[in-house]
Amino acid sequence: MKKKHPIVIAIDGTSASGKSTNAKLVAKALGFIYVDTGAMYRTLAWHCLSHRIDFHDAKAVATACRKWHTKLECVDGHVRLIVDSYFPEKEIRTVEVSMAVSMIAAVPKVRDWMKATQRDCIQFGNLVMEGRDIGTNVFPDTDYKYYLDAHLEERTKRRVAEGVNENLAARDQRDSQRAAAPLMIALGAKVINNSNMTSEQTSGLLIEDIKKRLKADGR
Ligand code: C5P
Repeated sequence: MKKKHPIVIAIDGTSASGKSTNAKLVAKALGFIYVDTGAMYRTLAWHCLSHRIDFHDAKAVATACRKWHTKLECVDGHVRLIVDSYFPEKEIRTVEVSMAVSMIAAVPKVRDWMKATQRDCIQFGNLVMEGRDIGTNVFPDTDYKYYLDAHLEERTKRRVAEGVNENLAARDQRDSQRAAAPLMIALGAKVINNSNMTSEQTSGLLIEDIKKRLKADGR
Protein backbone atom coordinates (compact mmCIF):
# COMPACT_ATOMS: atom_id res chain seq x y z
CA MET A 1 0.00 0.00 0.00
CA LYS A 2 1.21 3.51 -0.80
CA LYS A 3 2.53 5.38 2.26
CA LYS A 4 0.38 8.42 3.05
CA HIS A 5 1.94 11.89 3.33
CA PRO A 6 2.00 13.46 6.79
CA ILE A 7 -0.98 15.75 7.43
CA VAL A 8 -0.44 19.47 8.03
CA ILE A 9 -3.09 21.56 9.81
CA ALA A 10 -2.35 25.22 9.02
CA ILE A 11 -3.58 27.78 11.55
CA ASP A 12 -2.89 31.38 10.54
CA GLY A 13 -4.23 34.65 11.89
CA THR A 14 -3.66 38.01 13.51
CA SER A 15 -1.57 38.59 16.65
CA ALA A 16 -3.22 37.41 19.88
CA SER A 17 -6.11 35.77 18.01
CA GLY A 18 -5.60 32.59 20.06
CA LYS A 19 -3.48 30.69 17.54
CA SER A 20 -1.00 29.25 20.07
CA THR A 21 -3.53 28.19 22.69
CA ASN A 22 -5.84 26.59 20.16
CA ALA A 23 -3.15 25.03 17.99
CA LYS A 24 -1.71 23.35 21.10
CA LEU A 25 -5.14 22.04 22.12
CA VAL A 26 -5.80 20.74 18.60
CA ALA A 27 -2.38 19.05 18.41
CA LYS A 28 -2.95 17.37 21.78
CA ALA A 29 -6.42 16.14 20.85
CA LEU A 30 -5.22 14.68 17.54
CA GLY A 31 -1.84 13.42 18.71
CA PHE A 32 -0.08 15.68 16.17
CA ILE A 33 3.16 17.64 16.56
CA TYR A 34 2.79 21.35 17.40
CA VAL A 35 4.91 23.94 15.57
CA ASP A 36 4.97 27.63 16.55
CA THR A 37 6.52 29.38 13.54
CA GLY A 38 6.28 32.80 15.22
CA ALA A 39 8.73 31.46 17.82
CA MET A 40 11.21 30.78 15.00
CA TYR A 41 11.01 34.39 13.74
CA ARG A 42 11.28 35.58 17.33
CA THR A 43 14.39 33.44 17.81
CA LEU A 44 16.09 35.17 14.88
CA ALA A 45 15.03 38.60 16.20
CA TRP A 46 16.48 37.71 19.64
CA HIS A 47 19.67 36.40 17.99
CA CYS A 48 20.08 39.71 16.10
CA LEU A 49 19.41 41.79 19.22
CA SER A 50 21.84 39.80 21.34
CA HIS A 51 24.57 40.02 18.67
CA ARG A 52 23.98 43.76 18.16
CA ILE A 53 22.89 43.26 14.56
CA ASP A 54 20.76 46.18 13.38
CA PHE A 55 17.32 44.67 12.74
CA HIS A 56 16.47 47.55 10.38
CA ASP A 57 19.36 46.49 8.10
CA ALA A 58 17.86 43.80 5.82
CA LYS A 59 21.25 42.79 4.44
CA ALA A 60 22.78 42.31 7.89
CA VAL A 61 19.73 40.32 9.04
CA ALA A 62 19.87 38.11 5.93
CA THR A 63 23.58 37.46 6.56
CA ALA A 64 22.91 36.57 10.20
CA CYS A 65 20.19 34.17 9.09
CA ARG A 66 22.51 32.53 6.57
CA LYS A 67 25.25 32.06 9.16
CA TRP A 68 23.56 31.15 12.43
CA HIS A 69 23.91 27.60 13.80
CA THR A 70 20.54 26.04 14.38
CA LYS A 71 18.87 22.68 14.69
CA LEU A 72 15.30 21.43 15.01
CA GLU A 73 14.29 19.28 17.97
CA CYS A 74 10.98 17.75 18.95
CA VAL A 75 10.35 17.63 22.73
CA ASP A 76 7.03 16.47 24.25
CA GLY A 77 5.28 16.89 20.91
CA HIS A 78 6.50 20.47 20.40
CA VAL A 79 9.11 21.50 17.81
CA ARG A 80 11.93 23.73 19.06
CA LEU A 81 14.41 25.80 17.08
CA ILE A 82 17.74 25.47 18.90
CA VAL A 83 20.40 28.13 18.26
CA ASP A 84 24.02 27.57 19.29
CA SER A 85 22.79 24.55 21.32
CA TYR A 86 20.40 26.79 23.30
CA PHE A 87 16.60 27.05 23.39
CA PRO A 88 15.70 30.69 24.22
CA GLU A 89 12.17 29.90 25.39
CA LYS A 90 11.68 32.91 27.69
CA GLU A 91 14.03 35.37 25.98
CA ILE A 92 11.96 35.48 22.77
CA ARG A 93 8.85 36.78 24.59
CA THR A 94 10.19 40.22 25.59
CA VAL A 95 8.74 43.53 24.34
CA GLU A 96 12.07 44.25 22.57
CA VAL A 97 11.78 41.05 20.54
CA SER A 98 8.10 41.71 19.77
CA MET A 99 9.04 45.13 18.43
CA ALA A 100 11.88 43.85 16.23
CA VAL A 101 10.32 40.65 14.94
CA SER A 102 8.02 41.93 12.19
CA MET A 103 10.95 43.90 10.75
CA ILE A 104 13.16 40.84 10.37
CA ALA A 105 10.14 38.79 9.17
CA ALA A 106 9.79 41.11 6.17
CA VAL A 107 13.25 40.21 4.81
CA PRO A 108 12.75 37.87 1.78
CA LYS A 109 15.93 35.81 2.46
CA VAL A 110 14.73 35.26 6.04
CA ARG A 111 11.34 34.08 4.78
CA ASP A 112 13.03 31.63 2.37
CA TRP A 113 15.11 30.18 5.21
CA MET A 114 12.09 29.95 7.51
CA LYS A 115 9.95 28.28 4.86
CA ALA A 116 12.57 25.59 4.19
CA THR A 117 13.09 25.02 7.93
CA GLN A 118 9.37 24.89 8.64
CA ARG A 119 8.81 22.43 5.81
CA ASP A 120 11.57 20.28 7.36
CA CYS A 121 9.36 19.83 10.43
CA ILE A 122 7.47 17.17 8.47
CA GLN A 123 10.28 14.80 9.55
CA PHE A 124 8.55 14.67 12.97
CA GLY A 125 5.15 13.47 11.61
CA ASN A 126 1.66 14.98 11.32
CA LEU A 127 1.73 18.67 12.22
CA VAL A 128 -0.40 21.47 13.60
CA MET A 129 1.55 24.53 12.45
CA GLU A 130 0.59 28.07 13.42
CA GLY A 131 1.77 31.34 11.94
CA ARG A 132 0.92 33.99 9.37
CA ASP A 133 1.67 32.33 6.01
CA ILE A 134 1.35 28.59 6.60
CA GLY A 135 -1.72 28.09 4.40
CA THR A 136 -0.59 30.60 1.77
CA ASN A 137 3.14 29.96 1.52
CA VAL A 138 4.68 27.23 3.67
CA PHE A 139 2.18 24.41 3.01
CA PRO A 140 -0.16 25.88 0.38
CA ASP A 141 -1.21 22.39 -0.75
CA THR A 142 -2.71 21.31 2.55
CA ASP A 143 -6.49 20.84 2.62
CA TYR A 144 -6.65 21.82 6.29
CA LYS A 145 -6.47 25.61 6.51
CA TYR A 146 -7.84 27.83 9.26
CA TYR A 147 -7.67 31.57 9.90
CA LEU A 148 -8.30 32.93 13.40
CA ASP A 149 -9.19 36.51 14.19
CA ALA A 150 -10.81 38.58 16.94
CA HIS A 151 -11.60 42.28 17.43
CA LEU A 152 -8.52 44.40 18.16
CA GLU A 153 -9.94 45.47 21.53
CA GLU A 154 -10.42 41.84 22.60
CA ARG A 155 -6.95 40.82 21.37
CA THR A 156 -5.32 43.73 23.22
CA LYS A 157 -7.20 42.71 26.39
CA ARG A 158 -5.86 39.15 26.07
CA ARG A 159 -2.27 40.36 25.78
CA VAL A 160 -2.67 42.72 28.75
CA ALA A 161 -4.01 39.78 30.80
CA GLU A 162 -0.74 37.99 29.95
CA GLY A 163 1.16 41.03 31.25
CA VAL A 164 2.14 42.31 27.79
CA ASN A 165 1.26 45.83 26.67
CA GLU A 166 1.96 45.92 22.96
CA ASN A 167 0.73 47.84 19.91
CA LEU A 168 -0.81 44.85 18.12
CA ALA A 169 -2.37 46.99 15.38
CA ALA A 170 1.08 48.23 14.30
CA ARG A 171 2.49 44.69 14.17
CA ASP A 172 -0.53 43.37 12.24
CA GLN A 173 -0.21 46.25 9.80
CA ARG A 174 3.49 45.48 9.17
CA ASP A 175 2.69 41.75 8.81
CA SER A 176 -0.16 42.42 6.36
CA GLN A 177 1.57 45.03 4.25
CA ARG A 178 4.99 43.48 3.65
CA ALA A 179 5.74 42.37 0.09
CA ALA A 180 6.98 38.86 0.95
CA ALA A 181 4.30 36.37 2.10
CA PRO A 182 2.06 38.88 3.89
CA LEU A 183 -0.57 37.88 6.41
CA MET A 184 -3.77 37.10 4.52
CA ILE A 185 -6.58 34.58 4.44
CA ALA A 186 -5.55 31.54 2.40
CA LEU A 187 -7.84 30.42 -0.39
CA GLY A 188 -10.18 27.80 1.05
CA ALA A 189 -9.37 28.64 4.68
CA LYS A 190 -12.13 28.42 7.26
CA VAL A 191 -12.27 31.77 9.07
CA ILE A 192 -13.13 31.80 12.77
CA ASN A 193 -13.69 35.07 14.60
CA ASN A 194 -13.42 34.07 18.25
CA SER A 195 -13.98 37.49 19.90
CA ASN A 196 -16.85 36.08 21.95
CA MET A 197 -15.59 32.53 22.28
CA THR A 198 -13.54 30.71 24.92
CA SER A 199 -10.52 28.65 23.84
CA GLU A 200 -12.54 25.50 24.66
CA GLN A 201 -15.17 26.63 22.18
CA THR A 202 -12.66 27.64 19.49
CA SER A 203 -10.56 24.50 19.78
CA GLY A 204 -13.74 22.39 19.98
CA LEU A 205 -14.92 23.86 16.69
CA LEU A 206 -11.52 23.27 15.08
CA ILE A 207 -11.21 19.68 16.33
CA GLU A 208 -14.72 18.80 15.20
CA ASP A 209 -14.15 20.24 11.73
CA ILE A 210 -10.73 18.60 11.33
CA LYS A 211 -12.02 15.19 12.46
CA LYS A 212 -14.89 15.43 9.98
CA ARG A 213 -12.50 16.30 7.14
CA LEU A 214 -9.99 13.61 8.12
CA LYS A 215 -12.76 11.04 8.04
CA ALA A 216 -13.96 12.23 4.65
CA ASP A 217 -10.35 11.98 3.39
CA GLY A 218 -10.05 8.43 4.74
CA ARG A 219 -7.30 9.42 7.24
O1 C5P B 1 2.97 34.43 16.39
P1 C5P B 1 3.87 35.49 16.96
O2 C5P B 1 3.12 36.71 17.40
O3 C5P B 1 4.80 34.98 17.99
O4 C5P B 1 4.76 35.94 15.70
C1 C5P B 1 5.72 36.93 15.81
C2 C5P B 1 5.96 37.58 14.47
O5 C5P B 1 6.63 36.68 13.60
C3 C5P B 1 4.73 38.05 13.70
O6 C5P B 1 4.27 39.31 14.11
C4 C5P B 1 5.28 38.09 12.28
O7 C5P B 1 6.00 39.28 12.04
C5 C5P B 1 6.26 36.93 12.25
N1 C5P B 1 5.70 35.72 11.66
C6 C5P B 1 5.63 35.63 10.29
N2 C5P B 1 5.23 34.48 9.69
C7 C5P B 1 4.86 33.42 10.42
C8 C5P B 1 4.88 33.50 11.84
C9 C5P B 1 5.29 34.68 12.43
O8 C5P B 1 5.96 36.60 9.60
N3 C5P B 1 4.49 32.30 9.81
